[in-house]
Amino acid sequence: MSEVLTGIGVCAGIAAGPMLRIAAAPALPAPVPVTDAAAEYTRAEAALAEVVAELGRRADRAADATVAEVLRAEALMADDEELRDGVRELIDDGHDAPHAIDGAFATFREAFAAAGGYLAERVADLDDLRDRAVAVLLGLPMPGVPAPGHPYVLAARDLAPADTADLDPDQVIGLVTEVGGPTSHTAILARALGLPAVVACPGVLAVPDGTFVLLDGASGQVRTDVTEVEAKAAAEEAAQVAAAASTLTGPGQTSDGYGVKLLANVGSAKNVPSADEAHAEGIGLFRTELLFLDRAQEPTMDEQVAAYRDVFTAMAGRRVVIRTLDAGADKPLPFLNQDGEPNPALGVRGLRVARQRPDVLTTQLAAIAEARSQTGADVWVMAPMVSTLAEATGFAAAVRDAGLPKAGVMIEVPAAALRAADLLRVVDFLSIGTNDLSQYTFAADRMCGDLADLLDPWQPALLQLIGVCGEAGRAAGKPVGVCGEAAADPLLAPVLVGLGVTSLSMSPRAIGPVRAALAARTEADCRRLAELAVAAPDADGARRASS
Ligand code: PEP
Ligand code: MG
Repeated sequence: MSEVLTGIGVCAGIAAGPMLRIAAAPALPAPVPVTDAAAEYTRAEAALAEVVAELGRRADRAADATVAEVLRAEALMADDEELRDGVRELIDDGHDAPHAIDGAFATFREAFAAAGGYLAERVADLDDLRDRAVAVLLGLPMPGVPAPGHPYVLAARDLAPADTADLDPDQVIGLVTEVGGPTSHTAILARALGLPAVVACPGVLAVPDGTFVLLDGASGQVRTDVTEVEAKAAAEEAAQVAAAASTLTGPGQTSDGYGVKLLANVGSAKNVPSADEAHAEGIGLFRTELLFLDRAQEPTMDEQVAAYRDVFTAMAGRRVVIRTLDAGADKPLPFLNQDGEPNPALGVRGLRVARQRPDVLTTQLAAIAEARSQTGADVWVMAPMVSTLAEATGFAAAVRDAGLPKAGVMIEVPAAALRAADLLRVVDFLSIGTNDLSQYTFAADRMCGDLADLLDPWQPALLQLIGVCGEAGRAAGKPVGVCGEAAADPLLAPVLVGLGVTSLSMSPRAIGPVRAALAARTEADCRRLAELAVAAPDADGARRASS
């Protein structure tokens, strides 16, 4: 019987097809006495060989060279002579193949964990290899993302980066997870790949593998047991809408010509080609953390100039909003030694780092200024995690001292949203980071899947705070953008515009659908939808008012 499961849509689009669950790690069976050690060893060796071969096949298929390298490195560990000796010894001591493999990996695991550093980080790979080998021995599907050789909708409790490293978009046509929120890894991955996705969808793992489903990434609904004919009709309609969206180019605007800049979020120059493909009008969020991550030392001035120059040059005269270092909490940086904070999300993060290390900000601003002068780019600079007028004033002064023309701040803390009008007296623009603004408005960790409903960007309280910023922007005649994940929701885009938002910055794949959504509404529609959404009693009501 057909059933409708409801979650939170995090990437718009329709996916129709059989649903398959990510296979869980196998439990070790009860030990079996070994009568023929040689045969048992052959069995164990064949299982390890199959794991190596399977990882090799995945590496061959991987579109990304780094992913292929990671998979090959993992395969090498399963091919290790010492590991095989360990398995043989345990079998000689009377253990069956699954337990011998488990025991041999446990010894390696302990040694890796004790060694610390890079080796300790490989412990998860060892666990994955053990699970795979044991699954082969038990005749169970390999844990991880299925590869059935045909398109399917992937269901999981949640997806970790390792699960999705080599996810094949030709086979996986949609994602649905039982937990996870709008800013979870699953949501970010789905938007990067342009895959229709629903998160926080209870009950989805109870649906048997192979059930035909219709997933709607805009409404967050997953209908089970649809017929193939129904599924095909829905997929065709969605394909037509997507095709229409992709033919629409040019600046973002409503049907009556009210302009809304559509910008891309990038982490480095590598992302610029996809921004170009999506006809982005510029960069609305250049996250500079990438250059600083995994570094024992701060990158040098020259390294920074080169990285910023690459993006500025690639954008050839279009606007680039670059964000100064957003370190701390979910983005810890080794050289800042921030260990030991009792509550990192409320600790020294974002612009607050400059209280302790003003030199890091000064160097970064100097590097941005130098890259700008070498390229003549239209560079706007903004700071993350600003809470007060004093912080905004200090940052704007530092930006101007560096010779940079445009200073802005991100609105990620409710205190800053409430005082947006004050902030706009000292900065040139605001950019609302809805991922953090949700987290701090609802006191709900942005990584906590169990609280996904609180992190829903349709929450009226969040929209109300965005409206305060939008009104302040209208009054001051200054731009107010959104660069958090909320900007990528085509249904929400008109509401944000109605609230006074003048630009939307998102993962490049989301730009086409958002452009199409705005083109289908007048500016007056947007204002009306915004009023309805803010007046709604809850997130579902706000969403329904726009559907
Ligand atoms: C945000 O908080 O919405 C944002 C865009 O910043 P980040 O996700 O990098 O914290
Ligand atoms: Mg943020």
